[in-house]
Amino acid sequence: MEEQADIRQDIFRWLQSQELARGGYEFRREFLRSEYTYRGVQIALMDRQTGIWNPQGFDTTLSITNTLKGPYDDESNAQYLRYSYERVAGRPLISGRNLKLRAAAERQDPLILFQEVLPALYLPRYPVFIQQDDPVEGFVSVTLEKSLVDLDDPIYSSGSPKEYAEQVRMVRRHQRDFRRRVVRAYQDHCAVCELNIPALIDAAHITPDIDVSSSTEVSNGLALCKLHHAAYDGNLLGIDGDYRVSVRPDVLALPGTSLVRHGMQEMNGRSLYVPRAFSLRPDRDSLQVRYEGFLKSW
Ligand SMILES: [Zn+2]
Repeated sequence: MEEQADIRQDIFRWLQSQELARGGYEFRREFLRSEYTYRGVQIALMDRQTGIWNPQGFDTTLSITNTLKGPYDDESNAQYLRYSYERVAGRPLISGRNLKLRAAAERQDPLILFQEVLPALYLPRYPVFIQQDDPVEGFVSVTLEKSLVDLDDPIYSSGSPKEYAEQVRMVRRHQRDFRRRVVRAYQDHCAVCELNIPALIDAAHITPDIDVSSSTEVSNGLALCKLHHAAYDGNLLGIDGDYRVSVRPDVLALPGTSLVRHGMQEMNGRSLYVPRAFSLRPDRDSLQVRYEGFLKSW
């Protein structure tokens, strides 16, 4: 039992790290079914087809999924989701998967709700809890307001959870939205090397998003491949207000394996690839401020 609680917490942290790594993106079912492991054992986080997922060995439901066109009449608003039991001929079953869903309600175990936001793309919300279980009508009510908290954030435990959840919800929505807009503006290209493999392209902030003056305008963003995103954030590479790329001298001096040479050293002095529309181009002043930080970091 205790181990199951630990696994759940571990799953939540894992999801959070995956979201952060991808800038808060949606996931595909195959990914959610195959990528997570606990102590070397693979655990699927989502069911192959239906909504209620009870992994082997779990006493209560781990996740529920609501789809764009689900078979049941799930109702949702910002605060809660009315989620249907599994049914046969329109009638809720008082057996099968529903038993573990009801057990999750009784024990108040935290679950994951996967919401399909685009066809075959799911946005996880966790932890969510079942507030009400109605076996007669065959629905549970899932409260959503706790679901968007940063599990490690100390602010979570102080202040109003509702306000905090609202804040986090907005931040997350902005992050997802920001990524899409930035990556689209650069037509899936890295601004530094022009790599054009969408899965490897991130949206980086010029003024970091922890800064109060940070904006979610495309002009505060740069589409960068994973390598150049990490290099930019780690001050191995800088970009000045004239859209010129510089590589830190000690990186330039490294012995040149082909990746060091092509991936880093040859970027020195390059002009940035920027969107055609002026309004979408990176803000020169913010780039310059960040560039001065880069120069000081040597
Ligand atoms: Zn790149």
